[in-house]
Amino acid sequence: MDDTPIGRAAQLAVEALGRAGQGLPRPEQTRVMVVANQKGGVGKTTTTVNLAASLALHGARVLVVDLDPQGNASTALGVDHHAEVPSVYDVLVEARPLAEVVQPVPDVEGLFCAPATIDLAGAEIELVSLVARESRLKRAIDAYEQPLDYIFIDCPPSLGLLTVNAMVAGNEVLIPIQCEYYALEGLGQLLHNVDLVRGHLNPRLHVSTILLTMYDGRTRLASQVADEVRGHFGAEVLRTSIPRSVRISEAPSYGQTVLTYDPGSSGSLSYLEAAREMALRGMPRQAEAHHERHDGGAQ
Ligand code: ADP
Ligand code: MG
Repeated sequence: MDDTPIGRAAQLAVEALGRAGQGLPRPEQTRVMVVANQKGGVGKTTTTVNLAASLALHGARVLVVDLDPQGNASTALGVDHHAEVPSVYDVLVEARPLAEVVQPVPDVEGLFCAPATIDLAGAEIELVSLVARESRLKRAIDAYEQPLDYIFIDCPPSLGLLTVNAMVAGNEVLIPIQCEYYALEGLGQLLHNVDLVRGHLNPRLHVSTILLTMYDGRTRLASQVADEVRGHFGAEVLRTSIPRSVRISEAPSYGQTVLTYDPGSSGSLSYLEAAREMALRGMPRQAEAHHERHDGGAQ
């Protein structure tokens, strides 16, 4: 499917799992995944780019919207995002069509990225005085005419207007949780914001997917945190957790996902498996059942 060497290597890894040929079910409608957790460093960006690449390697058409002024997702996908590049900032603040900023991701067919530049740091404040400030990303996505199976929105580590824009545009929230002390701290606030957005701005929004990241199976702490998260969330937690892996953390400095950087590594295989689980479960129809269980919330 791809004629670059790393793209081919990644494709071979997918085929080695024996699953590329049989493919994954394509969603009937675009699944818009909001990757959110107001804590920094929990694996939002890593999860965004690697799940997106996994699904694209399985034949899906996937767009990553980089909504973090740091631009880490753009970097990891090898997409140009220096200051003059048309970016998500122009889409949000200048109402520029999304199609004018989307770039194909090198080496992964079917994967696209709307990059973030440093301008986006100002957007949080500039948005305040704009009309329909909460729904500007949604409008842009609704007007985007290319067919897509998935959109992943990589949120900044805050619950401000950028994240609200993502929640208004999305149907599903995907929360990466790092397996360490205080993993659940602050989650109550995130879930509360999801409830607020659902109540006032976007009735479809629900937490569909929790992914445990940087899991170190050798430590008792990691398994305790995992048990606690599964106790709180149950069905939303993917069975696959992502191990702590040097290859995962090295890949972005080569402008690559771990899928192309080291296709056979444990990090690559675990993201492929998590993507498969995500594709096989959780269609928007299940939203109602999921809501009830969140009422207790985490602390
Ligand atoms: P966030 O977007 O939530 O701030 P990142 O995805 O940028 O978090 O991850 C934070 C740091 O942890 C990055 O340096 C990243 O490379 C590293 N990292 C993320 N996931 C893993 C993992 N499974 N194993 C090792 N390092 C990881
Ligand atoms: Mg990030």
